[in-house]
Amino acid sequence: MTKKIKMTTPIVEMNGDEMTRVIWSMIKEKLLEPFIELKCEYYDLGLEKREKTKDQITIEAAKAIKKYGVGVKCATITPNADRVKEYNLSNMWKSPNGTIRAYLDGTVFREPIILENIKPFVQNWTKPIIIARHAYGDVYSAVEIKANEAGISRLSFEGENQKESKIIKEFEGPGILQAMHNTDKSIKSFAKACFNYALDKKMDLWFATKDTISKIYDHRFKDIFIEIFASDYKEKFAKSNIEFFYTLIDDVVARIIRGNGGVLWACKNYDGDVMSDMVANAFGSLAMMTSVLVSPEGFYEYEAAHGTVQRHYYKHQKGEATSTNSVATIFAWTGALKKRGTLDNLDELVIFAKKLENTCLKLIEMGTMTKDLAILCDGEKVNIVNTEEFLDKLKEQLKLVI
Ligand code: NAP
Ligand code: MG
Repeated sequence: MTKKIKMTTPIVEMNGDEMTRVIWSMIKEKLLEPFIELKCEYYDLGLEKREKTKDQITIEAAKAIKKYGVGVKCATITPNADRVKEYNLSNMWKSPNGTIRAYLDGTVFREPIILENIKPFVQNWTKPIIIARHAYGDVYSAVEIKANEAGISRLSFEGENQKESKIIKEFEGPGILQAMHNTDKSIKSFAKACFNYALDKKMDLWFATKDTISKIYDHRFKDIFIEIFASDYKEKFAKSNIEFFYTLIDDVVARIIRGNGGVLWACKNYDGDVMSDMVANAFGSLAMMTSVLVSPEGFYEYEAAHGTVQRHYYKHQKGEATSTNSVATIFAWTGALKKRGTLDNLDELVIFAKKLENTCLKLIEMGTMTKDLAILCDGEKVNIVNTEEFLDKLKEQLKLVI
């Protein structure tokens, strides 16, 4: 075997929890360390360490991504009441992803990994659909009131120059209320992130809202996208031979279902939450979905879209073999390595990451796969392997091409 690949700038490595933590160390040991002199700045975001540091470790990791530019993250537990008991937590710590997203003000892009022998449920989808989810505001930071009696509700704003108040509803009896917000700053960075990513991927960009109904709120999203496109991106898009298309959310849903894919679909926060689950499942499996957080300043954080695969972890703890799919976590690493390699002009690193991805896909296309994929596979020769066997087979194949 040839000499190990050297790196110049560290990647921010964020370890996580449960089954994905198990997979994490196997990927490093079997697929990365034998070939690369890995240079990482390590942050353990496992729940125990978050508890020990009062979650400071998550902030430290987010800061490190700002410092170095590229991070890779393992799935982590977002604590709920059960987890507080299970891990004896002093606090129901926030979702690390939420904390990092808020710190970097990023947009999340989710892309399915497509295989020859796994047919999507929507048969005409021959190309990937990437969902860009605006990860700020709207219903996720809404303020709500439950009115228990008749009364008047108002929406009001007070600035230095502008004072405005509107009646929302004169309630005749009990009801519910919700107020949400967004900021021009965040919508602008969302728009820029989407335009840049479309150029990066050379893919058409579609964006949709319900501006016909929401004439101020959703319309603001539309206006900002159209203005920024006209001033900064129109020519770049034309040069790259790609299009920006704005329409209504219902229209875009209809077009997505009928189309062949191959678009970057920018979604408002809630649309992105719902549609990314739909797209992931329609393409086959959540275990084949990658996710990258891109900040407006150009910082990147790569991860798998799935969680810590808790049920498999409990089996693993009992000493039983599991057949957990490691592909999305492998692609999180290759995504980070490719980006680091590109930024640092390390062709070797980029080529290695691409070879690892291709070898992984070929292995599955030749029939070796974990159980979740076997159910979806239409090939005749299927060899179901466990978590570790898959990674061992992949290492064998990788050695042949390096
Ligand atoms: P999950 O870990 O994504 O798993 C849900 C189910 O999907 C699994 O039980 C498994 O189905 C299947 N699955 C997901 N990934 C798989 C893989 N790689 N290989 C094979 N099957 C896979 O979601 P969850 O059980 O709702 O959440 C578990 C923990 O993860 C929670 O504590 C949650 O907070 C956390 N979470 C973290 C992130 C993140 O860090 N980005 C995202 C989501 C959830 P079967 O059991 O039927 O085999
Ligand atoms: Mg969701």
